[in-house]
Amino acid sequence: MLSMLMKAVQVAAPGGPEVLEWKNVPLPAAGKGRGQVLVKINAAGVNPLDTYLRSGSYTTNLAYPYTPGIDGAGIVEQTGKRVYLSGSISGTYAEYALCREDQIHPLPDHLSFAQGAGIHVPYATAYRALFQKARAKAGETVLVHGASGGVGLACVQLARAHGMQVWGTAGTQGGIELVAKCGAHRTFNHSSQEDKKKLATAAQEGVHLILEMLANLNLNWDLELLSKNGRIVVIGSRGKTEIDPRFTMSKECSVMGMTILSAEPKDLAEIEAGLQAGFANRTLTPIINCELPLRNAAQAHQLILAPGACGKIVLIP
Ligand code: NAP
Repeated sequence: MLSMLMKAVQVAAPGGPEVLEWKNVPLPAAGKGRGQVLVKINAAGVNPLDTYLRSGSYTTNLAYPYTPGIDGAGIVEQTGKRVYLSGSISGTYAEYALCREDQIHPLPDHLSFAQGAGIHVPYATAYRALFQKARAKAGETVLVHGASGGVGLACVQLARAHGMQVWGTAGTQGGIELVAKCGAHRTFNHSSQEDKKKLATAAQEGVHLILEMLANLNLNWDLELLSKNGRIVVIGSRGKTEIDPRFTMSKECSVMGMTILSAEPKDLAEIEAGLQAGFANRTLTPIINCELPLRNAAQAHQLILAPGACGKIVLIP
């Protein structure tokens, strides 16, 4: 018999990490809606989006108070099945999350719950950017600009498994080593002027596709690095920037934005099928940087925005 209360993180109003409160809240009522399941959360994934939503910098119609968190993994109360989540009705920074049936997916036995909490947003975003937006092809060269974080490492693994020539950047030596270990053929430090010169020289051999995690800093430079007829997918940006549009003319290139939040159910079904195949043949392996207690969500929100990414930060209830 489940207690009627559970521990969860709640946000009562937008603000800094301190608005993430550790509280007793009512257990979500499963079964009120058809096709709903209650999942005992064993790990919740932390994404930069969680911080934008918390601070109010991302426009949505959130009803306060709310429990944050899109990603998570755990066990379905009714069936005992191991699952990872692609969102939930009630929020994943909690001991339990109420989910629609289409938000739960089988978690392969060889992946931990922490790894499961690092799947949906990073891997679905990477898959959509590479294949549904850029139409990436085997043999092409892709630069993953910001490869050491959750999305970047997923891009590296997916592109490598697809037969691409993969280049990745990170801002620390540890990040660079991890990007190489995950399959990048060449790595560059995006904080080093010397490495930037090396990247510019290497790019003369041709860069067909750039997956950009920080477009407000890099978009104009990406346009310089890109080959004729190349494509840039803007995955992340934290502000405005100035570009020289002439690059788009001389290179006849495409710059496209994407958000995983716009993926239709049919897109998500395709993504899920592609990811499950990659987990089964072990070309895709979520990388966990650190596990923190769920009550330390505020610390996780500071860490996720700090330099020095090396995979996912997950919260353990
Ligand atoms: P993350 O785990 O915090 O990783 C951030 C990445 O950005 C790290 O690889 C970091 O490298 C890199 N970075 C820092 N400075 C950079 C620079 N000057 N140039 C290039 N890269 C730089 O975050 P994430 O989950 O991978 O997400 C990455 C970005 O995509 C975020 O802005 C996020 O909001 C966005 N995103 C968008 C979608 C979408 O649907 N469009 C979905 C998920 C995420 P170092 O730490 O090694 O310097």
